[in-house]
Amino acid sequence: MSGCLFCQIAQGQRPAHNIFEGEGTVAFLDILPCTPGHTLVIPRHHYATLSEMPAEEVGKLFQAAAMVAERVQAAMGAAGFNMGINNGKEAGQEVFHAHIHIIPRYQGDGGGSMKSVARMSGKEDLEQLATKIRQAFTSS
Ligand SMILES: [Zn+2]
Repeated sequence: MSGCLFCQIAQGQRPAHNIFEGEGTVAFLDILPCTPGHTLVIPRHHYATLSEMPAEEVGKLFQAAAMVAERVQAAMGAAGFNMGINNGKEAGQEVFHAHIHIIPRYQGDGGGSMKSVARMSGKEDLEQLATKIRQAFTSS
């Protein structure tokens, strides 16, 4: 997609601080980092969201992300990292070209866990929820 910021980065048409280029994936530094070394890993091919990606492409993207995350953590001397996807507008997605965030974590950085992303405690019984979600596996 010619108007897509991340397609332009993947095709080398827009400057970015690239740190890794694979056959199907590219990793570069986020221009508004949460912590030093905050990295984005994207598929070269345009998919607006993770949900649009074929399973095989998702696998390749996560393999690349896991490898990149280890290298970033080591290079930055970070204590750990969070890896996450803002999938869809309500989840905070801003650029609609699927991407994985790798956020290196440092002792005393003041951040939280993935559980701090939202606080909407469910009122439904967990088993009822599990039953409802299991049905999504059989109906597709
Ligand atoms: Zn794109």
